[in-house]
Amino acid sequence: MMKCPICCGDGYLVHEGTRDNSEIDVYQCPECGTKFLSSVDGNNDYENGFMYENDPLAALSIEERLKIFQKDDKRRFEKVKEICCGKNVLDFGCGFGGYLKYISDVADSCCGVDLGKSERDYLNANGISCFRTIEETGKKFDVITLFHVLEHLSDPENWLNIFSDYLVDNGLLIIEVPHANDILLSLYASSKFADATYWSAHLFLFTAKSLSMIIERSGKYIIESLEYIQRYSFANHMMWLAKGLPGGHNEWKYLDSAELNEAYVKKLQELEMCDTLFFVLRKK
Ligand SMILES: [Zn+2]
Repeated sequence: MMKCPICCGDGYLVHEGTRDNSEIDVYQCPECGTKFLSSVDGNNDYENGFMYENDPLAALSIEERLKIFQKDDKRRFEKVKEICCGKNVLDFGCGFGGYLKYISDVADSCCGVDLGKSERDYLNANGISCFRTIEETGKKFDVITLFHVLEHLSDPENWLNIFSDYLVDNGLLIIEVPHANDILLSLYASSKFADATYWSAHLFLFTAKSLSMIIERSGKYIIESLEYIQRYSFANHMMWLAKGLPGGHNEWKYLDSAELNEAYVKKLQELEMCDTLFFVLRKK
């Protein structure tokens, strides 16, 4: 057993090893549902390309990688474009800035923060300011977005306090994170998916309950909305279940249809077993 870092519940072992480190195990808290690691490897060198270490994407050009991320970047832009219209926006952990490029068309101003040197160099050369730390931005924002970032940060509760210092009064903090109870991990219990998805860099996989808990404890925000989002399609899930492999959403896309996915996502939302959580918080 290991104590849950979020609520001190008695976490139990759910997976031995992560995809990149056999020494680190994954635990889940029975109280708040958070998944957390048995130990944290503090040596992740985000500055020099850790995000793409042992990843086939590393062989691709930045433009090719941006094309792969485009669907997520566009979906996020569509969700937040109205609230970002005419505002000063920071995307924290912005990567190569696919989302920021869309936002720059509607925001009054926007910039990014990323530890990756290649990411910063690319964006600064392409007309979008990108800083190494939030302190370097030197200003407050109307909207701060974190897309698949909070799960990489140790002490997420303290980070919520830091983001609050960089928001104007009534400013918005938008958080998207992978969900601990993705149906592939929970109901389907796909061992191949678990082997591929648990990663030493994901220090926490949150549930709606556990993320709400630290938000409320910080005392800095009101939760405006919480949504369950499904990034991967029915065909993707079928391939994990049939062959234990990723990529079904590309290879078996003829299984997918808008109607089928709409109904499937609706059911996953009812079951609270989508792959992604999306929170909109307002600074008190
Ligand atoms: Zn807990």
